[in-house]
Formats: sequence, C-alpha cells, structure tokens
Amino acid sequence: MNGDPVAVIGAGWAGLTAALVLSRAGRKVVLIEAAPTPGGRARTIDSKGTRLDNGQHILVGACRHALSQMRAVGVNPILALHPVPFRLLMRRHVPNGAPESSLLAPRSTRTRDLGAAFYDASRDEGLPRRLLGLTGAWRMLHRPLTRDLPVADWLRRNAQPAGLRERLWEPLSLAVMNTPPAEASARIFQSVLRQTLLAGDGPARLLIPRRPLGELFAEPALQQLRTLGATIRLATRVQGIEARDDDGFLLTLRHGETLAAGQVVLATAQRSAVRLLPAKPALDALRRNLAELGERSICTVYLHYGKTPPELPPLIGLLGQHGHWLVPRRLVGDSHWLSVVISAADAYPMPNADSRWRRVGRELAATFPGLGEPEQGHVICERMATLDARPGLDDRRPDTRTPLPGLYLAGDYCARGLPSTLEAAVQSGQKAAAAAITDEIPDLVRPAG
Ligand SMILES: Cc1cc2nc3c(=O)[nH]c(=O)nc-3n(C[C@H](O)[C@H](O)[C@H](O)COP(=O)(O)OP(=O)(O)OC[C@H]3O[C@@H](n4cnc5c(N)ncnc54)[C@H](O)[C@@H]3O)c2cc1C
Repeated sequence: MNGDPVAVIGAGWAGLTAALVLSRAGRKVVLIEAAPTPGGRARTIDSKGTRLDNGQHILVGACRHALSQMRAVGVNPILALHPVPFRLLMRRHVPNGAPESSLLAPRSTRTRDLGAAFYDASRDEGLPRRLLGLTGAWRMLHRPLTRDLPVADWLRRNAQPAGLRERLWEPLSLAVMNTPPAEASARIFQSVLRQTLLAGDGPARLLIPRRPLGELFAEPALQQLRTLGATIRLATRVQGIEARDDDGFLLTLRHGETLAAGQVVLATAQRSAVRLLPAKPALDALRRNLAELGERSICTVYLHYGKTPPELPPLIGLLGQHGHWLVPRRLVGDSHWLSVVISAADAYPMPNADSRWRRVGRELAATFPGLGEPEQGHVICERMATLDARPGLDDRRPDTRTPLPGLYLAGDYCARGLPSTLEAAVQSGQKAAAAAITDEIPDLVRPAG
C-alpha cells in the first residue's frame, strides 16, 4: 500500500456507500462519477423544469442496510418514506367492461394470517385445490430451494391456484425480479420472500418515497463525503484503469489526465466494469463472466393531469394493461402527476414514447372512472435497469475481490440472494469497502525497511 488514495469509480448507491465507509474509516478517497449528478440509476433528473425520478423506486422494510445508510447521512426513513403494510390492491382493465378490483390484505405476516389471505385469494377453486395451494405456498416460503428453476415452474410445482398466481405471485415476482416469471430465478425470488414475508410485518412493509430519489441518499451522501474530506469528481468519466507493476493503479480520465490510486473500488454497472477492467490475463475469466450477465429494462411513465386526480391509494397493481404498477406522485408533493411502472419493458415494446404514455393514459382512464386522460406524458426508459434475474444467476455473480490485489467490485450485480436493488447496491458497497480496509492491514503491519 502506498500513500495514494482509494479511487471509487461510480457514484450510484454502491459507490457512494463504499466511499462513505472508507472515508469514515479514515481512508483518503477520490470518488469519480461520469454523470454531472450522483445517484446512478436512482437519481433525480430535471425534465423541462420538473424534477422527476429516473424511475419510480420502492423499498421494503427488509432493506436494512440501505435504510441504515440513509440514516447515517442524516435522512430519517420515517419521514422520507411512506410505509404501507404488505397488501396488494390490484385493478384489472376489462376492455368494454367494468374494471375489476381485488385486494390481498393479510392482517399480519404470521403464518395463520398469510394462510387465510392466500386461501381467500384462491376462492375461484374447489376446496381440494385451495388446500393444495396452501400447502404449496407453505413449502415455497419454508423449504429453501436446492436447485434453481423458473418462477412459473416453481408455482406450478407447488400447485398455486390461478387466482393466487395472477393476483399475487406473478405481479410480485415481475416487480421484484424485473424478469418475466417464466424466466426469473425462483431461488432469488424465494430468498426475497423469506427476507420479507417470513421476517415479520416490519421487513414486509412497502416503503414509498416521499421525497425525490436524489434526496433519499445520493445528495446528502455527497455532502457528508465532502465534510469527511473526500475528493469528489463529478462529470468525469474514467476511460481506463492500468495496474502498475510496482503497486497500485493508474486511472486515465478525460483529456489524458491521470490519477494514481492505491486501491480501486469499481462501482459501475457490470457493462462498464467489463470495459474498465485492466487488460490483464488474470482478469479474462471475470471479464467473460461479467459480459455474459444480461440486463432488463424498466420504463416509468409519468402522466400529468390538468386537474388534481381523485385521491388514490399509494400503490395499485394494474392487470390486463400495458402498465404494471400505479404510484401517485402525491406523496412527493406532485399532486398532478401519476407514475406508472412497466417492468421488464423489453418484453412489452412500443413504437415510441408518445404511443407508450398515451396508451397507459387511455387504459388508466378506463380503469379509474373519474380520472380522465392526462394532458401530457413523459416516459423514462432505462434499457439496463437491472440484471436479467435468470435461474443460476447467483452462481455467476462475481466476488468482491478480483484476482488483482487492490481491485474490488461493487454494484447491485454483486450481491447474492438479491435482485438488482438499492439494498443490493448498498450491501455490495459495504462489502467492497470492508475488503479494501481489511487488505490494507498487512501493509500497515509490514516491518519498515
Ligand atoms: C427505472 C428503475 C426502477 C427501479 N426500481 C427499483 C425499486 O423500486 N427498488 C429498488 O430497490 N431498486 C430499483 N431499481 C434498481 C436500483 O436503481 C439499482 O439497483 C441501483 O441504483 C444500482 O446502484 P449501483 O450503484 O449498483 O449502480 P448505478 O446506480 O448504475 O451506479 C453506477 C454509477 O457508475 C457511473 N459510471 C459508469 N461508468 C463510469 C465511468 N467510466 N467513470 C465514472 N463513472 C462511471 C454511472 O454514471 C453511475 O452513476 C430500479 C432501477 C431503475 C432503472
């Protein structure tokens, strides 16, 4: 280890967390971010004078690490997030017919209450199938999977009745995994269900932001980093990383500028990581592995209404239409805006943004009488929003430590047992920083001379 700083590349939630943990431990940190604002995929953007989030985000109570990092930068989750007990209100668009509603609302996440809610949701079935479905649901929650398989197959094997599949498991799996149930990893989905539903009412609670995304973590984190003495370089893209023969790394920035670093935490999404990994044979297998991880898109449709829309619950699942989840922006103070999330949007193509928001607006107007059609719309599609969470994904996730000493990976793609989420990003940032701090110790205790 030399006196050079630790370079953290990427100011998403992973990189910010790594930079904070390192700075709090007294390390000299340079945080380098390509974009002019921090937050990565969870950033707030300015669109023609309106502050919109890069995508509607939702956390759950089980996001322990993310919530504690928010607290550590002075954001009180109780004020910044609106809690909703675990319940799914779904609204179905019926072309040329009246919209239908369903509500799955267990009184608590205790086995007895969950069982009663599941039993009720499968009311279209006869008694034997309902009971079979209940036993299957119990197995799904309590018996850890030894072999991964697609969520749709897992639901079938556990005899989940059509009502429960359509109104609970499939929309939930699509939202959590951002991968259609026929292709999504049952093992990761089960891991999320166990960390939420099995962990109690608090962890299972949905938390909907009351503030623009940037204010939840990225902006206060940057402020704290400055106070801790970290150097922040925004709007600065790292072009390459070279491993020096003696010790440490040399980063190439814009206009041929270089920066020496003792250690590097590479906290970009996996695509950029593949491009930035130093050209060393020891990293070839890692590069190949990262290049094979796929991505899935998410589109968020923001709709603006001339008059304030009728008061709607904070989260509504949409069935039988182009949009998947409706989140009124009233909670963040934008009472004229509604946001609609389209998960795995690559599976639901549209010719252009205009036709997307108009279709979503039309279908919402037909689903919610009194709402009317929006006067304008804005679509943000993030092509590489999350990992393609296929069966076997966890086995392909890389370790924090790369084969090159001093080079660490962080990012939502690194955290096993979780889909690409803010929690995964924060956990990975903490792990990378902890590894960098631990690995520094042998050098500190190395005898002088
Ligand atoms: C539309 C949408 C909706 C989502 N919904 C949810 C949700 O409801 N709940 C949830 O928990 N998660 C959600 N996610 C996922 C969540 O946003 C991500 O998992 C998380 O933000 C990833 O953080 P990260 O730090 O790993 O990566 P990123 O946020 O991608 O950060 C990487 C950073 O590296 C920077 N970078 C890249 N290359 C370079 C370079 N060469 N030099 C310098 N900097 C570079 C990038 O600009 C970026 O800022 C959603 C994502 C999207 C897009």
